[in-house]
Amino acid sequence: LQPENLFPEQVELQGYTLIEKVGEGAFSKVFRAVPQRNGPTSFLCENYKEVAIKIIKKTALVGDDPKADIHVAESHNRKHSKTSSKEQVLKEVSLHKAVSSGCPQIVQFIDFQESKTYYYIVQELIHGGEIFGEIVKYTYFSEDLSRHVIKQLALAVQHLHSLGVVHRDIKPENLLFEPIEFIPSKEPKLRKSDDPSTKSDEGLFVPGVGGGGIGVVKLADFGLSKQIFATNTKTPCGTVGYTAPEVVKDEHYSMKVDMWGVGCVLYTMLCGFPPFYDEKIDVLTEKISRGEYTFLRPWWDEISAGAKNAVIRLLEVDPNKRYDIDEFLEDPWLNTYDCLKEQEE
Ligand code: ADP
Ligand code: MG
Repeated sequence: LQPENLFPEQVELQGYTLIEKVGEGAFSKVFRAVPQRNGPTSFLCENYKEVAIKIIKKTALVGDDPKADIHVAESHNRKHSKTSSKEQVLKEVSLHKAVSSGCPQIVQFIDFQESKTYYYIVQELIHGGEIFGEIVKYTYFSEDLSRHVIKQLALAVQHLHSLGVVHRDIKPENLLFEPIEFIPSKEPKLRKSDDPSTKSDEGLFVPGVGGGGIGVVKLADFGLSKQIFATNTKTPCGTVGYTAPEVVKDEHYSMKVDMWGVGCVLYTMLCGFPPFYDEKIDVLTEKISRGEYTFLRPWWDEISAGAKNAVIRLLEVDPNKRYDIDEFLEDPWLNTYDCLKEQEE
């Protein structure tokens, strides 16, 4: 018996055999799958032995359901709701397709299918899981490992922003990674603190030590992403811009949304808990809007001034003052040491 008989999602799917569920989101299930030899889509998968398929059930979506207005009303009350519709899935697909090539830090798009009951978004399979899970597993990351991850996230964001695309859902759950056996590290294995006598290796994780480790980091989930402007890939010098200043400013602001997300991810990796948290959603919203976060003791005591500065420049309430992606890529802390570069050498 084929495993396809186990999954109702298999019945209307063409060209791929579902193997197991590897992830889940608000409206989706993600499966590991194998492209079928000589199947109708096999030419798309020549380079892939296995793929990931994000499957969205149509009845779970607003707009495809006869009781759509009920769903809309309900979703407004939900804390972290993501209202989807056919239009939105198609937008996710077209944006994912558009940004997919030319950046190893973005999960590659492969194929899309729509059946009577489901949407199927076929992507490259990422084997390590979510960065979220690694933070839980190791309590928090060393500065080196945090830098290794955040630098790659920054490369993904730079790629997106240069194409005029804002991701809008940057979080450790949407950051996936390929495991590595070992990253050679000349860096001291202890966290560097301002006071050398307080060095401790508690909770430290050096890439590659202790088995596995985080290799290439990949940004996933374009379900909330948005095209802000269409860029001319070959913009000639002296292009006349007819865009109004407030529109230009708006575009700029929305890009900064991702930089806030990058700041939240960086903060969380360094100490193991998010910068803003409250049981009550209105209290949380208030804290965020005021930018009320602290470098809580004792967790932040040993973290370098450089790392804290990077967080401060990202979690800046005023989007004008907040780092943009190019400024962040120039940040001194981000450029102190680069595991990835060394690995390539
Ligand atoms: P949603 O839009 O519902 O949040 P995601 O695209 O974020 O859906 O996928 C849900 C989860 O499935 C992710 O958080 C991740 O754990 C897993 N996942 C998504 N894409 C892949 C992939 N290409 N390879 C491996 N796992 C994936
Ligand atoms: Mg997600």
